[in-house]
Amino acid sequence: MPDIATWKKIGIMGGTFNPIHTGHLLLAQWAMEEAGLDGVIFMPTGNSYMKDKEEMLPGSERLAMTQLAIQDRECFSCSDLEVKRGGNTYTYETLEALRSMYPQSRLYFIAGADCLFNIEKWYCPQKIFENCVLLAASRSGAPMEALEKKRCELTEAYGAEILLMAFPNMEISSTDIRRRRRLGRSIRYLVPDRVREYIVRNHFYEGL
Ligand code: NAP
Repeated sequence: MPDIATWKKIGIMGGTFNPIHTGHLLLAQWAMEEAGLDGVIFMPTGNSYMKDKEEMLPGSERLAMTQLAIQDRECFSCSDLEVKRGGNTYTYETLEALRSMYPQSRLYFIAGADCLFNIEKWYCPQKIFENCVLLAASRSGAPMEALEKKRCELTEAYGAEILLMAFPNMEISSTDIRRRRRLGRSIRYLVPDRVREYIVRNHFYEGL
């Protein structure tokens, strides 16, 4: 178990992770190097109230898959904070909890850059920006000018600290993985082997 209290710069990789896949893992790895993070906490959501509930596995199963995905990396950890909290998952609550657990550390919330355009609809954006640096990954081909403009707007409105990070465009999504399972197609290499075996063994996402 990593000693997170010794990490000065902590990345938070929040996600529904239904299921976790190689894109999520690479994004966390990339963020570590880009921002010089000491490690990353993967945080599967409890109830992602902004997501379609169809095909949504329970938090306990998404947590189990996330644990399997990161178990061989000392600098990756997995938290059950949101899954255990119950109710709708609000990122600001998680960040406030982590701030009090690790008061000496700086928190970096890792996300796809598109979130810059909807984070103001999340619950209490002001409190999100007060508690973390937002590390936003822009996929290649995304219009950088629009992102830069939005970054400036959010900095002005909320005092937000936002780092834009270039990230390669990987056409891997949880939606596509579930679709492949429905069609009986392979998900090998899209998810870590241990996760694939867990999904197959438990017949997840079949015939939905
Ligand atoms: P998700 O679908 O599991 O994705 C997790 C993250 O990985 C997202 O930032 C996503 O960016 C990124 N990602 C997925 N596939 C990728 C790929 N191939 N290459 C690069 N990046 C990839 O989780 P989510 O439902 O978007 O939730 C993300 C976080 O936002 C969670 O922590 C959730 O709690 C939080 N959230 C909070 C609120 C709130 O507080 N009210 C509301 C909504 C979400 P993209 O989205 O750009 O794919």
